[in-house]
Amino acid sequence: MTEVATQTQLIDRFGRRVNYVRMSITDRCDFRCVYCMDEEMVFMPRQQLLSLEEIVSLVGAFAELGVEKVRVTGGEPLVRKNVDWLFKELGDLKQTTALKELTITTNGSQLPKYAESLVESGVDRINISLDSLKADRFKALTRTGDLNGVLNGIRSAKKAGFKRIKLNAVIMKGRNEDEIVDLARFAIKNDLDISYIEEMPLGHVTHDRSESYCSSDEVKAVLESVFALNASDANTGGPSRYYQLEGTGSKVGFISPHSHNFCESCNRVRVTTEGRLLLCLGQEHSVDLRDILRRYPGDKTRLKQVIINSMEIKPKGHDFNVREQPVIFRHMSVTGG
Ligand code: SAM
Ligand code: SF4
Repeated sequence: MTEVATQTQLIDRFGRRVNYVRMSITDRCDFRCVYCMDEEMVFMPRQQLLSLEEIVSLVGAFAELGVEKVRVTGGEPLVRKNVDWLFKELGDLKQTTALKELTITTNGSQLPKYAESLVESGVDRINISLDSLKADRFKALTRTGDLNGVLNGIRSAKKAGFKRIKLNAVIMKGRNEDEIVDLARFAIKNDLDISYIEEMPLGHVTHDRSESYCSSDEVKAVLESVFALNASDANTGGPSRYYQLEGTGSKVGFISPHSHNFCESCNRVRVTTEGRLLLCLGQEHSVDLRDILRRYPGDKTRLKQVIINSMEIKPKGHDFNVREQPVIFRHMSVTGG
């Protein structure tokens, strides 16, 4: 490789600066949420996954290229063995690189075990998925999950002292759309924020997504019939649009890949469990970073140059359509939600 990675920022062909990486650290999970996975999932052989050391090298390279925010996700990140070691290493990058914010998205089931050590390692904010407050429905939606375990996880997270905790709820017609207001009330009561997510056509699932799909506009209208929503300029670096729930400390966000195109201001890339750098959630443009890590171990200059070059193939935007499913055959658990 003749070029030398002297660049300290990642800018794509459309002038968008990439400063946010979502890193999937496992495709495995203790839940089987109906919108995310098939009941029977075949997981990747372990040697195909990036090792924890490889993940640290990769995040380090991104952080030296100006990436300020890293979200660790999966699958369920907290089922990965030695995940507490990983978070310590990633937290240390905040002292030596551009990295400012370390965050995690989790289903909450393992938080009673890990919440404290995550905060100690420097995890700033946490997203916890919660689609229902009814135990039997929660079980049906997650197939294997236990609502009480997750509520315990939320309590542990509050005690551990994250800067902010946000709930994520995927709203599906006929499944949980009657809990939109109750979930917001739960967030308010516990001083949490909440984002409502539109179901995305990622991977094959057993239900018809065109029937379950519920748009953010529909969710927002339901909330507005009960609460006053004041537009907020809060920007967490992600694709959510935020509103303050008037008279409360809670914000509500809407993640709407279908109805509100957020591609124009896209500042992020994803790394899959097996080290594929995905330049867009809804397209297949990718670069095999595991190959570089394994063929040239320790060659950070080369790794950084490959990442810089990848900016040339970041697509302008995605093209989701729930009626032609599945658009992308990857499950969210591999891509990293
Ligand atoms: N296991 C963790 C969790 O559930 O929070 C992290 C990974 S999960 C893939 C990340 C987020 O993606 C979750 O909030 C989940 O609800 C959401 N998600 C999964 N599949 C989705 C889909 N097809 N459409 C929209 N959101 C999805
Ligand atoms: Fe697991 Fe999260 Fe997917 Fe649910 S959404 S199956 S918790 S990875």
